[in-house]
Amino acid sequence: MKDCIKIENPKECCGCGACKNICPKNAITMEENEMGFFYPVVDEELCINCGLCKTVCVFSDKHTGENKEASVYAAASKNTDTLMNSSSGGLFTELASAVIDKGGAVFGAAWSEDFSLHHIAVTKKSDLNMLRGSKYVQSSTDDTYSQAKKMLDNGMYVCYCGTPCQIAGLKAFLKKDYEKLLTLDLICHGVPSVKMLQQDLEYVSKKKKINITDIKFRDKGYGWGVTGSLSNGTSKVKYDSGVSPYYFYFLNGEIYRESCYNCRFPSEGRQGDITLGDYWGINQELVKQMGDVDLDKGISCILVNSEKGRQWINQIKGSLFITSSDRKSAEKRNKQLTHASVPTPEHNALSAMYKEKEYEAFVYWYKKNYKKHIVRFVKGLIPRKTRRRLMQVYSKIKG
Ligand SMILES: Cc1cc2nc3c(=O)[nH]c(=O)nc-3n(C[C@H](O)[C@H](O)[C@H](O)COP(=O)(O)OP(=O)(O)OC[C@H]3O[C@@H](n4cnc5c(N)ncnc54)[C@H](O)[C@@H]3O)c2cc1C
Ligand code: SF4
Ligand code: SF4
Ligand code: SF4
Repeated sequence: MKDCIKIENPKECCGCGACKNICPKNAITMEENEMGFFYPVVDEELCINCGLCKTVCVFSDKHTGENKEASVYAAASKNTDTLMNSSSGGLFTELASAVIDKGGAVFGAAWSEDFSLHHIAVTKKSDLNMLRGSKYVQSSTDDTYSQAKKMLDNGMYVCYCGTPCQIAGLKAFLKKDYEKLLTLDLICHGVPSVKMLQQDLEYVSKKKKINITDIKFRDKGYGWGVTGSLSNGTSKVKYDSGVSPYYFYFLNGEIYRESCYNCRFPSEGRQGDITLGDYWGINQELVKQMGDVDLDKGISCILVNSEKGRQWINQIKGSLFITSSDRKSAEKRNKQLTHASVPTPEHNALSAMYKEKEYEAFVYWYKKNYKKHIVRFVKGLIPRKTRRRLMQVYSKIKG
């Protein structure tokens, strides 16, 4: 067993599943830990010590494979339906549709009935709705890397969209680039576990008396922001940090997988041919340059990281509002482009308590800290200059 993967530190495994996909003996299964995150476990009886699992691990030092020449754009689809059903500017749908038009397959994250999240492949545009939209929870790649390889070896176009570590895992598994492969990585600050989400949905469904059949983390009916919805098929309720401890702690960065606080991928070199994110805090000048764009329906920040990425963007340009931007401006409100999430004291306390009390820990901390966090959040919305001015006025009044 000396040559096979062994997870000694949970910070050093993002759960991408490349090791499981490459194992010639199917000796690796992904098993859930007490926080609900999946880690590879090797069956000693089946393992032949070939060492392949170690060579593909994206947390090993051997791993490179970054695209380093990014051009930055602000962009949004011209199609209102696409925009309203996407989390940001609908770039994923525009690119995925172009791949399907060439007879290709698109891989992305889709809900299962129990609200676990799995990567699947679709080949019809009418099925893209299963993939569309950000799901703020970890998706399992299952055997999709192997599926994608088979398709590519058969000469098919493939688009694979996922978190940067999932794209790194795919590339490590494939071992070579394919001309017909388009990779899209997301700007990503971290993922909580499916177990945490399922417990939250149970809590919120009781609180709001709704039998949940659909979940959206970002519902454009409430504008372009981080308000989502839960629906029972005929009516919906808001799903946001005001009702959900899970969503609250997700946005605060306190319940991510340990590897997210040790993420190797927020650097300048990106994993995908194209990186997709929200253009939070976009300035008016850029909005004007984009033409007839509606700010309330969402704008994407895209980094075009390779020549292949550039060619695909050129192909879909006609269906986009698009203008050039720069990295500095994109990073202003997207710090996850420069560094990994930092674990807070709350993260450590919350994790320790969750191991013992599971979801009760979320409710306990949420009730305890909600007001404090709201004050901090509102403070964060006031520009620093104004805050300083207000403090000066306050001290004068106080004498
Ligand atoms: C966990 C997570 C964290 C993110 N954090 C940020 C951030 O901090 N800043 C920022 O600017 N953008 C972030 N994003 C990206 C952003 O939310 C949008 O997904 C992105 O801008 C694409 O939007 P779109 O309108 O082009 O496409 P959409 O239609 O919204 O498409 C989303 C694509 O992402 C895939 N996807 C959705 N959920 C997951 C998941 N859990 N794992 C893997 N793939 C998934 C879907 O399959 C689809 O392919 C994050 C996304 C995720 C999933
Ligand atoms: S060493 Fe080879 S056989 Fe053993 S788990 Fe890793 S890939 Fe599978
Ligand atoms: S990071 Fe990916 S390849 Fe490495 S051990 Fe974890 S699941 Fe396997
Ligand atoms: S923060 Fe890093 S390790 Fe965590 S899901 Fe995103 S890319 Fe993967």
